[in-house]
Amino acid sequence: MPTQKPHEAEEEYFAKIEAEKKSKLAQKHRSALQTREMEQLKETHEMHCPSCGMKLDNIVFKGFSVDKCFHCGGAFLSKEAFQRLCGEDTGFLEKIVEIFQFK
Ligand SMILES: [Zn+2]
Repeated sequence: MPTQKPHEAEEEYFAKIEAEKKSKLAQKHRSALQTREMEQLKETHEMHCPSCGMKLDNIVFKGFSVDKCFHCGGAFLSKEAFQRLCGEDTGFLEKIVEIFQFK
């Protein structure tokens, strides 16, 4: 396991705190929304790029399903695909999953 520099550990600590805070806010927001409002949000935003708002297209690449925006170039993976890729990585993606706790 590579040794971390003090500022890297501090950066990860604060990123984790920020992610936990945002996750709690999202849970609070989700519980406050009525079911119908959540359905309307899903209908409006599902398969739209979170960056530019255009429609996403699904492509399969090397066994991974990728939602690709051909307008801005964004590419989005499912939670499962992301975690599979993390298992094959040298540690960077594992850190992202660990810090941001995908739920
Ligand atoms: Zn886009």
